[in-house]
Amino acid sequence: MNYYSLHHKSPNTTFKNAVIQGLAKDRGIYFPEKITPLSKEFIENIADYSNHEIAYKAIKQFVGDEIPTAKLKEIIAETVCFDFPLVQVDANIASLELFHGPTMAFKDVGAKFMAKCLEYFNRDNEKEITVLVATSGDTGGAVANGFLGAKGVNVVILYPSGKVSDVQEKQLTTLGQNITALEVDGVFDDCQEMVKTAFLDEEITKTLTSANSINVARWLPQMFYFFFAYKELKSLNKELVFSVPSGNFGNICAGMMAQKLGLPIKHFVASTNVNDTVPNYLIDGIYKPKPSKATISNAMDVGNPSNFIRIQQLFNNDLEALKRSFSSYSFTDDETRETMKEIYDSSGYVAEPHGAVGYLGLKKYGLQENEFGVFLETAHPVKFLDVVESTLPVKVAIPEQIQKVINNKKVAIKASSYEDLKAFLMK
Ligand SMILES: *Cc1c(COP(=O)(O)O)cnc(C)c1O
Repeated sequence: MNYYSLHHKSPNTTFKNAVIQGLAKDRGIYFPEKITPLSKEFIENIADYSNHEIAYKAIKQFVGDEIPTAKLKEIIAETVCFDFPLVQVDANIASLELFHGPTMAFKDVGAKFMAKCLEYFNRDNEKEITVLVATSGDTGGAVANGFLGAKGVNVVILYPSGKVSDVQEKQLTTLGQNITALEVDGVFDDCQEMVKTAFLDEEITKTLTSANSINVARWLPQMFYFFFAYKELKSLNKELVFSVPSGNFGNICAGMMAQKLGLPIKHFVASTNVNDTVPNYLIDGIYKPKPSKATISNAMDVGNPSNFIRIQQLFNNDLEALKRSFSSYSFTDDETRETMKEIYDSSGYVAEPHGAVGYLGLKKYGLQENEFGVFLETAHPVKFLDVVESTLPVKVAIPEQIQKVINNKKVAIKASSYEDLKAFLMK
């Protein structure tokens, strides 16, 4: 399968190159040349397939022959190695829990799949690849875990000192092996700026790549759990509406790809916090990115969502067509906390702030009699412990995955400027 740049100024390229490069030379993100729907028969009989078989069917055409079948199946098995349960919260609403993986964030899926693809593509290359990633929290942990032990791949994670939670910091500073954490004296934007500068620095001779959410190998496997949820809910015979708490809009865009492959999903709701660039665009047709604002659902504090252009492409840039199957609503922190309480009071379910924003999206959409709503719970409440415990009368038990890292010793290299990063990369 070949991919084209959405800036249309770079030549089309293979899946392999798209994975290794991340971004095209013209700075555009990649999009598949062709999307072929899966057979109606497969969708109709989806309950007869295992999750691994479903994932293989969903992703196969996007990989093509660039990874042998047996290897691709192995990568899928390593990626889809935990449950994606649906937990009913209301009569017509369920939470799709994506947080049962190793770092308890949905990003585990994309990070592991990408790591394994990159390891495979670099298998015969003497030269190691260095993955550079800036994180404001969840991405770093998922990438560190996903890439841990990947042969021929080194990972350097930049994170803002004092600006990530204790759990998140432990997840990215305690693994060792091929993972190095750089603790940056600054904010997330400084980390991101340092990464960007490194990519443009011709004196750095290492092969650099990024592991952020625009990489096709991180984006596409996120389709899997929309299929899994459909498989579970098919027998309800209701029309499905998915609400996805959205920041960079990669997760929801993967769901819309699944729909394009023929998965019967009636409507998507992109639920955001006050970073409302997309909700505003749907109202007035003007796409106006702005600086991000800090909120309690901070993994969605994005003012210029990088994957939205892919959603537009799926609808041939036809805003009216897009609006028929896509809505987007923005919610404040007060509304989010209020909703966490309401969900807890009515059902006993503990939603963390991102999931609560997703739930709010379904309420605002207004489900009809024949519809069933699913919101994606993108992280475990323990990842946002302060907000959860200060909002709800609960004490969150620390899950095993987190206990394992919390007592390990933090190892990080301090960096206060780009020169520190460069010195490290030139070693
Ligand atoms: C990354 C993240 C999101 C946003 O996902 P996008 O694909 O960027 O829209 C939502 N919730 C959590 C917990 C996240 O870590």
